[in-house]
Amino acid sequence: MHNLPFALPDIGPAEIAEVTAALQSDWVTSGPRVKRLEEEFAAFLGGGLEAVALNSATAGLHLALEAVGVGPGDEVITTTHTFTSAAQVITQLGAKPVLVDIDPATLCIDPDAIEAAVTPRTKAIMPMHYGGRAAAMNRILQIAGRHNLRVIEDAAHALPTTHRGELVGSLRSDAAVFSFYANKTMTTGEGGMLVTRDPAVAARARIMRLHGISRDAFDRYNSRRTNWHYEVVAPGHKYNLTDVAAAMGLVQLRRLREMQQKRARIAALYDRELAGLPLVPAPGPEAGDEHAWHLYAIRLHPDAPLSRDGFIESMHARGIGCSVHYIPLHRHPHWRQSLDLRDDMFPHSQRAYEQLVSLPIYSRMEESDAERVAATVRDLLTE
Ligand SMILES: *Cc1c(COP(=O)(O)O)cnc(C)c1O
Repeated sequence: MHNLPFALPDIGPAEIAEVTAALQSDWVTSGPRVKRLEEEFAAFLGGGLEAVALNSATAGLHLALEAVGVGPGDEVITTTHTFTSAAQVITQLGAKPVLVDIDPATLCIDPDAIEAAVTPRTKAIMPMHYGGRAAAMNRILQIAGRHNLRVIEDAAHALPTTHRGELVGSLRSDAAVFSFYANKTMTTGEGGMLVTRDPAVAARARIMRLHGISRDAFDRYNSRRTNWHYEVVAPGHKYNLTDVAAAMGLVQLRRLREMQQKRARIAALYDRELAGLPLVPAPGPEAGDEHAWHLYAIRLHPDAPLSRDGFIESMHARGIGCSVHYIPLHRHPHWRQSLDLRDDMFPHSQRAYEQLVSLPIYSRMEESDAERVAATVRDLLTE
């Protein structure tokens, strides 16, 4: 039986042709293709917002927090059940990550826990849409409104995801940040997109993504053809996306719906084929909403015939790659020590962590691959 990896990018001839065209255009860094990707991404989300292309989602989260004024002494509330970059960018700004537990029904940040963690120093909330299922954004935006907090969505999994019928990225937060990392629902190899309705946030992110160089000054002199002149107005970063990467993104964005439908079919197959086994299936969307299905994460019951670790090993032995999302931040030595965290502060995340297994779900999988995964899970859990 062939090996089925946990994840694979879905790159076809159209991506290769567009990347080749970018390479032949003589413009390989940020240029016309980046601009087009930003425009088409904003249009995909329904327009009325600005999209800023970056070389990672981590960069986008960093710039979004900076642009809304997060700095030394501030607290930003996010969840322990996420990827390390979310907390890392908070500390890079001199602010403190305040980690809270998840809602076990959705595996997303628990709004009650957010409310309980608000202090006079709280500046922002950073929810994450786990696996591509929308977090409780209505409640989170209400809490933010009551306490005058900024909301930056870690939307790395949430393309395309809807919350009460509206696409994540078009909600009333201050910004949302998508990832184009290799295993995400669309990829540019490495890349990300910050989207916002606030022109000031977009303008600041555009300056800070390229060394703090003011575009206004740049464009002003450009139009006079004396393009050697520029002004550094802030201590910025090197976070821009290349046109070579954007070329890939332009085609991936056009194929996004088709790729999502394939993942949704795999999720439906898993829901159907895994019913009745000693496991909790992946959290589905709220009725009427769309799920990006970046992850299909099951939780094994404590009375399952295999431990979680034993299950992953047995899947691997049968040629099927699995993963765990996430080893929560409170389990990592750096965060545990620097933020003084313990397992019993996050009972839902801790329990989920001990039971979670992410099954393969990506558009290049055949239906027969998904059937094989489901049959193997069934086999292992009914021994
Ligand atoms: C992938 C991911 C990121 C980081 O994305 P990059 O583009 O690799 O920087 C951040 N948060 C979550 C939840 C992710 O899954």
